[in-house]
Amino acid sequence: MRKLTILGATGSIGASTLKVIENNPEQFKIVALAAGQNVEKMTQLCVKWQPQYAVMADEQSAQALTIKLKSLNLNTQVLAGIEAMCHVSSMDEVDTVMAAIVGAAGLMPTMAAVKAGKRILLANKEALVMSGQLFVDAVKQYGAELLPVDSEHNAIFQCLPSDIQTNLGHCDLNVHGIEHILLTGSGGPFRYSNLADLEQVTPEQAIAHPNWSMGPKISVDSATMMNKGLEYIEAKWLFNASREQLKVLIHPQSVIHSMVQYKDGSTLAQLGEPDMATPIALTLSYPERVTAGVKPLDFTKVGELTFLEPDFQRYPCLKLAIDACYMGQHATTALNAANEVAVDAFLNRVIPFTHIARVNNWVTERICSMNAQLKCDSLEDILEVDKMARTLATNFIGGRRA
Ligand code: NDP
Repeated sequence: MRKLTILGATGSIGASTLKVIENNPEQFKIVALAAGQNVEKMTQLCVKWQPQYAVMADEQSAQALTIKLKSLNLNTQVLAGIEAMCHVSSMDEVDTVMAAIVGAAGLMPTMAAVKAGKRILLANKEALVMSGQLFVDAVKQYGAELLPVDSEHNAIFQCLPSDIQTNLGHCDLNVHGIEHILLTGSGGPFRYSNLADLEQVTPEQAIAHPNWSMGPKISVDSATMMNKGLEYIEAKWLFNASREQLKVLIHPQSVIHSMVQYKDGSTLAQLGEPDMATPIALTLSYPERVTAGVKPLDFTKVGELTFLEPDFQRYPCLKLAIDACYMGQHATTALNAANEVAVDAFLNRVIPFTHIARVNNWVTERICSMNAQLKCDSLEDILEVDKMARTLATNFIGGRRA
């Protein structure tokens, strides 16, 4: 039986993870659940799953949860803060950690799980984008087991030989005859919109993804295709891929979740319904398979599958991310931080949709111009660059450009 901590339990990935576990109760046990401030949802989860620990991001939320659980006579121990998240990710009672906190807040708990040598189910792509080489080196050094949850990376993982699956981040694609990794993306809700209309897009329109149901931040990232950019960086690290080996392809139907091309002319693809329960189930049960509660594709209803080159005029964030990927750790850490600030400002109607790319570009350029003075050799250095980039982004949005 696998014993789990779920970081980001109240979110979209948290819900899909619990759905898979509900389908396979004899194989998984929930030891700890962690979330931000959603006390209502965490209370419901504690009632249903009765975990040993429930962790909230801050003391106030933890206190509110403690009162609720006491009134319900539940024995779950409530903890608060980043250290508690790191504790439930690294303690002996747990062997598997679902890393599904959104954004940079997930970095430290995910790294704690890596350093404790756990099986890490990685949904929180921002953690890998922020720390790249440090992350994959730590996985190797501490004997952790890394399994990608992101549907594209999970698809690629399934199309790779087992030698690579068990050595993510340190494999040589050439040795295994791999020429290209094709990262597919739907293009989001504004694939066919007039470019001139994008300035007026509302948060409600941006989070209405045509194929996938996800949290608000990743939904906006999908609309700008920053999500594909973050995935590109994630893929570079997970599969040790070069610029020539890694390609992005628009595939509006989201039926093929990504592909691997071999030098003999074979292309392997993974197909399925757009439901995160499928990739999550694989990471939970690997190398076995368990029921995910997802129907297999009905090929008589799939219809046409189409593919397009990405248009960087429509998706400037994608280009920014691909370029940042080859500029160094400071660039991707800064871009990720700027993007979190910009998306938050867009969701709060402070900036228009098209300004997300402007903020990201300006901050990344500024950080890159300071590169000679910046170090990214440790988690502390990375968190410092992340902080600088957030300040720059906030000031840029506030019009101060300091
Ligand atoms: P959601 O917004 O639905 O959920 C985010 C989760 O993170 C919530 O549980 C939230 O808690 C928690 N959280 C937020 N801030 C903190 C914090 N400071 N400390 C602890 N927990 C916190 O996001 P998703 O589930 O959509 O995405 C989660 C991650 O998975 C992201 O990195 C995303 O890129 C990735 N991902 C998501 C996919 C999807 O289909 N949704 C697909 C592939 C990857 P609370 O509810 O209390 O705020």
